Amino acid sequence: MEEKRYDHIRVRAHGKINLGLDVVRKREDGYHEVRMIMQQVGLYDGIEILRMGRTSDGERKITIETNLRYLPVNENNLAYKAADLLMEEFGIKDQIHIKIRKLIPVAAGMAGGSSDCAAVMQGINRFYRLGLKKRDLMERGVKLGADVPYCVMGGTALAEGIGEILTPVRSIPPVYIVLAKPGINVSTKMVYGALKADEIEHHPDIDGLIGEIEAGNLKGMVSKMGNVLADVTEGLYPIIRQIKEEMIRMGAAGAMMSGSGPTVFGLFETEEKAREAYAALKTDSRCRQVFITDGGMAHERY
Ligand code: ATP
Repeated sequence: MEEKRYDHIRVRAHGKINLGLDVVRKREDGYHEVRMIMQQVGLYDGIEILRMGRTSDGERKITIETNLRYLPVNENNLAYKAADLLMEEFGIKDQIHIKIRKLIPVAAGMAGGSSDCAAVMQGINRFYRLGLKKRDLMERGVKLGADVPYCVMGGTALAEGIGEILTPVRSIPPVYIVLAKPGINVSTKMVYGALKADEIEHHPDIDGLIGEIEAGNLKGMVSKMGNVLADVTEGLYPIIRQIKEEMIRMGAAGAMMSGSGPTVFGLFETEEKAREAYAALKTDSRCRQVFITDGGMAHERY
């Protein structure tokens, strides 16, 4: 009976948005030192991990399937890397199959890949009862990506360093979140490359933003939102600013580009306004993917 129960496990991999994103400086090693306010969203990729049994050659084997044909299903998938890391460390010689039902827009500033990575680590940990604490998973996750520790932690957090130094922040007031990704592809590398870290004129007030969140003040919070990468990406793709303005026009308390973009999020105080904006953007040919969600909970089973 016990064996059967653990034949497969399901985990949710939630996306994130950035309520604040500041680049403090470019380090000598080329990495950018950031201060970001990360906020989990309810939108998630569904991850299922199936144990296919022992392999005949006594080596671990990981196979992947996803609903998006253009995503890698080999060792380049972050879900693969996550499983491989833990299976190697703990000497697990099984064959496992990972199914990824991808909903989070890809290469869109929502940390979808990092979140799949974190969710697979959590799934393997539970499935094989490895007994790793969140902290242990975060330590291992940073080897696979700077955003992975945050994705393990979830919720609202200040991320510093290259994104891996985390301090939890009080949950934001309840909001409805509309996400709209225009039909353009933006490379994170290109955006950081185009940013002149020592010439940034307007740094967002990240400490002020934290203060407003801690005070539970939504209006104060949106007034302090800011993203230095938006200046780069919006300059190249005016459509991002247009979608942002459209969200404000439709009643968003605040709207901004997430991460390196191009996804734009709008925060709405009422479900009615959020639904209206969602419906309008759904029929807007400039938006390729549109979602309505909230600041959902981390990695529960579903
Ligand atoms: P971030 O917000 O951290 O910059 P992102 O939203 O820009 O992340 P992702 O969607 O996480 O970008 O992934 C970007 C690239 O990573 C894709 O081009 C894809 O080929 C690769 N990748 C590897 N594994 C995955 C995965 N499980 N899901 C999505 N992308 C993946």
